[in-house]
Amino acid sequence: MKSIRIRNSSKEIPIGKIVCVGRNYAEHAKELGNEIPEKPVIFLKPASSVIYSGDKIVYPAFSNEMHHETELVLLIGKKIKDADEKISEVAIAGYGLGLDMTLRDVQNELKKKGHPWTIAKCFDTSAVLSDFVLKENFHLTLDEEISLTVNGELRQKEKLNMMLFPPIKIVQYISSLMTLEEGDLIFTGTPKGVSKVERGDKLHAEISGMTYLDCSVS
Ligand code: ZN
Repeated sequence: MKSIRIRNSSKEIPIGKIVCVGRNYAEHAKELGNEIPEKPVIFLKPASSVIYSGDKIVYPAFSNEMHHETELVLLIGKKIKDADEKISEVAIAGYGLGLDMTLRDVQNELKKKGHPWTIAKCFDTSAVLSDFVLKENFHLTLDEEISLTVNGELRQKEKLNMMLFPPIKIVQYISSLMTLEEGDLIFTGTPKGVSKVERGDKLHAEISGMTYLDCSVS
């Protein structure tokens, strides 16, 4: 069973489901040739795909084009369903940083056929997590910057306030579709600048003043 690691705490919360938002930054939707969505685009990742900062991302044999997507991740702290904005806000227990590693070649094939993205998004090591900070220890203003470098070269950098759907709206929307529970994680989408990684690459991602993660590709 994989757990969420909380900074300055020995508490380990088991990971429930991982809900991901696609196309939540206009410039990223455009770079992949997608329309800007009217509602958040939602998909899932399994808890078995999780690794942590310091671990290795493993290239699956069935892809030649793995992309990095760096994202703010929300930790859900209580069970909610059909929540309003106020309850959605209260349900967010903390924040982390995640990499939604994506097999772009596989995803493009799946999209063409109208198939789900499962094979492109759910492989082992496809969800990299930083340590999480609890909301009482960190006040997220969305003025923070999210960034990612590959071998020291900047690939992604954007303010969190460029999101089309901010965290509370995302939680509210997902809770209208399915029950959210303690230990669920929500990947909130990636800004522009996604690109291919190669074996041997070293990735460093951070959200300014909040948290960071390091990992390599093998
Ligand atoms: Zn993503």
